[in-house]
Amino acid sequence: MIEFKHVKKFFQLPGKMFEKKYLKAVNDVSFVIEQGTTLAVVGESGCGKTTLAKLLMGLYDLTEGEVLIDGANLSSYKTVQDKKKLRSKIQMIFQDPFGSLNPAHTIKSMIGRSITLHKSGLSPSQVTEKVIELLELVGLTPAKDFMEKHPSQLSGGQRQRIVIARALAVDPSIIVADEPTSMLDVSIGIDIMNLLLELKEKKGLTMLYITHNLASARYMADHIAVMYAGNCVEYGTIDDIIGEPYHPYTVLLLGSTPEPFRKERVDIYAPEELPDLTSTKECCMFAGRCPRAMEKCMNQQPDNIHIAGRQVKCFLYEGADKEVKSLCNISMYRRENI
Ligand code: SF4
Repeated sequence: MIEFKHVKKFFQLPGKMFEKKYLKAVNDVSFVIEQGTTLAVVGESGCGKTTLAKLLMGLYDLTEGEVLIDGANLSSYKTVQDKKKLRSKIQMIFQDPFGSLNPAHTIKSMIGRSITLHKSGLSPSQVTEKVIELLELVGLTPAKDFMEKHPSQLSGGQRQRIVIARALAVDPSIIVADEPTSMLDVSIGIDIMNLLLELKEKKGLTMLYITHNLASARYMADHIAVMYAGNCVEYGTIDDIIGEPYHPYTVLLLGSTPEPFRKERVDIYAPEELPDLTSTKECCMFAGRCPRAMEKCMNQQPDNIHIAGRQVKCFLYEGADKEVKSLCNISMYRRENI
């Protein structure tokens, strides 16, 4: 199980020596990913999704808060040996299958290198056997046809399968997938999503799946965390949140997603006011775009409220009944209502 507890990550910006300015990339994020399940992290560009992934990978230090992996604090992985242990527990699949493979190496040498980096004492024939097994696992068959190829000889979908095989080479229990289909054609993307679902079942993987596409989040995940300007504004099961969004931003996000068979055009209005991630002012970061904003939203930051089986960061639900229904819907964003 993975737990994010009040996680913050601020980056110091260049400036005058005594006037320290920070970019609040992740600001007080809490959620849990249970073992063997997938959490989709959804939000627009710059909302902190990739920073969250890198925090889990141990690539950044936390500014505040804790990340626990099976009860062990991530900050306890300090030495090179610890980091190596962490790498064999968690692996990342990147967005760009074209840039994540070294063009000079063959598929066999790339996957073989990952195997031997984390497992010493294997003979060359054992490494070759394991490479074949991994290529077959990700659907590249017959494996022998791919072993001596270079990435430039493969299609985008085949390269992403190689990236997945390389990630699985160390037998990780956690996969962080950062928009793994965003650079692929739609039909190839669905193949990759199906492969990830199949591998999750077969290997009992726990997955953090980052996407800005709600449809793929719905397809892949058990739970969803909706991010806005470094904050996790709503978190719960996919069915609950997509079925009945509570936070005004989740409502906007869902309302703006074109449904293939929806004939009606939704004429939405939400000011494109970009939140200032460097501001030290306490406020709800969504206040500039929220039609339900109140005075307190301008000078206080809402806390997480646990209500109706979910976690929501919005003053509207403060003191509400535990079984309250959603207080927002897309009609509040219709141009005629503004
Ligand atoms: Fe809107 Fe206020 Fe809720 Fe923020 S806290 S989403 S501004 S109602």
